[in-house]
Amino acid sequence: MGTGADNTTAQRLRLLQQEFVQPARSGPGDGRSSRPTHAPAPVDLGVLDRIRAAVHEVEHHTRTAAPDAGPFTGPAERVYDYCRQHTAHLEAEQQNAREAIIYRQGLEHAIAAGDTSVVRKHPCPQCGCVGMYWQDKTRRALCVNHYCTDNDGVSNTWELKRLAQEYIARKSAVARRAT
Ligand SMILES: [Zn+2]
Repeated sequence: MGTGADNTTAQRLRLLQQEFVQPARSGPGDGRSSRPTHAPAPVDLGVLDRIRAAVHEVEHHTRTAAPDAGPFTGPAERVYDYCRQHTAHLEAEQQNAREAIIYRQGLEHAIAAGDTSVVRKHPCPQCGCVGMYWQDKTRRALCVNHYCTDNDGVSNTWELKRLAQEYIARKSAVARRAT
């Protein structure tokens, strides 16, 4: 049963939309608001594009893994439910691949919303140290261990994809041991 399916990614996507995409509504029922009537904040097209790309990636992954799935329709944050529903019958390895994508998108949504602390709890894949930093210019997580460097003495950095894959692999190993 798909219990324990984590909705964090969907929540983060919704938050991102609320913060950056849906302009503050000045619709009915808002008359009591003491806020000054500024023009609503402009929609952040970069974030909008990123959300669209994220939804497209998950839809594409779903339809590749499960050709019968049909197109995704509905609000963006529902794409993860759609994906899990249509791929729930697949082998564990494929389900892990799916969860790694969803988990990585959760990290991406949080970072896009300004919360870069989400990378910190991940152990470095090289040395196991916890406490990585997000490096915006490379869009990678940087290991803080001074001895954890490449051959040129440059600190090791990791793609979110790698951190997500390792996270899901650990989680599934724990689940296997528990049964
Ligand atoms: Zn390291």
